[in-house]
Amino acid sequence: MALIVQKYGGTSVGSVERIDAVAKKVAKFHQNGDQVVVVVSAMSGETNRLLDLARQVSDQPIPRELDVLLATGEQVTIALLSMALHKHGVEARSYTGSQVHILTDDAFNKARIQEIDDARIRRDLSEGRVVVVAGFQGTDKDGNITTLGRGGSDTTAVALAAALKSDECQIYTDVDGVYTTDPRVESKARRIDRISYEEMLEMASLGAKVLQIRSVEFASKYSVPLRVLSSFEDGSGTLICAEDETMEQALIAGIAFNRDEAKLTVVGVPDQPGVAHSILGPIGKANIEVDMIIQNTGADGKTTDFTCTVHRNDYKQALAIVQKVAEGMGARSVIGDDKIVKVSLVGVGMRSHAGIASTMFEALAKEGINIRMISTSEIKISVAIDEKYLELAVRSLHSAFGLEQQA
Ligand code: ASP
Ligand code: MG
Repeated sequence: MALIVQKYGGTSVGSVERIDAVAKKVAKFHQNGDQVVVVVSAMSGETNRLLDLARQVSDQPIPRELDVLLATGEQVTIALLSMALHKHGVEARSYTGSQVHILTDDAFNKARIQEIDDARIRRDLSEGRVVVVAGFQGTDKDGNITTLGRGGSDTTAVALAAALKSDECQIYTDVDGVYTTDPRVESKARRIDRISYEEMLEMASLGAKVLQIRSVEFASKYSVPLRVLSSFEDGSGTLICAEDETMEQALIAGIAFNRDEAKLTVVGVPDQPGVAHSILGPIGKANIEVDMIIQNTGADGKTTDFTCTVHRNDYKQALAIVQKVAEGMGARSVIGDDKIVKVSLVGVGMRSHAGIASTMFEALAKEGINIRMISTSEIKISVAIDEKYLELAVRSLHSAFGLEQQA
């Protein structure tokens, strides 16, 4: 007998028929003797519909009231699922976030979970019930309804799994696991059996949007085994867990990419203290997130070049800021390019294996792909390249590292 937290996303509960199918699935676990807590999202499209309503009423809806509104989406699904479970002979109880004391801070629309009082859930479980909890929502200490940011139901599920010390947190979704890269770009992409939290964080933040990033951070912090599986097909999905020796010994876990990068270069900035700060400071103040940062060694000892990348949506604003700063410091010029993408190789194997970077660069060179920027971390190598080479780069790296083969 296991204690499992299961989360079903918007498409999995997107219609009454699908809610019924979820109920049948949950009933099976329950009949096997497992204790099950189910977290659900709003029916697909519902959160967007609510957001749209709010925007029709006001350009800038008050954050507190927006959360009151958005939280209703999940309340619909918990009730319907609970009814469906009863129909299949399973006693179930639904709860909103605040009813099971999912205490968050008071940052409306992007609240963070601080504490969960699991007494009520445990009581229901011990009395043989399935507990159905609304994802994506909680309450602050003053009793205001809060929501956790888009995709936040994943984090609700992981937080409940951590609080209940559940054996596994299963995220049921419309894909059957995490892939070595996006199958729409490389049809030979393979489902990964196991991946470490760290690798998953790199894959997720780089655009493999299967899970809310925060849920993976949470799972890692509390060592919650997290499994991504399809709610429509059978299969073992992908297990995200701590790195250990028994782990699938793949050097490279996968290839992530980000299509929406833009690059800014300040040419001929004075090679002296404070320059990076005077460029990045105003960008940060404008709330623009900077991704890659590169500065050359000043060859002549007087000037150097400084390059950073930002999200394409922020490109124009960032360019205007940098141009102004560059003028002020007497830099030679500013060059911008908003047709840049980032491709990254991710794998814990990089820690112990040399030569991965050179294999990567060789594969790109063979295809005649010019690397515009390179950045590395312990388990990741990223390159910025021209947008038109994205697919080619991903496919050539996928094959160069043998990712299509079963590890
Ligand atoms: N319903 C929310 C959203 O669409 C939360 C979630 O589904 O995880 O973002
Ligand atoms: Mg989701």
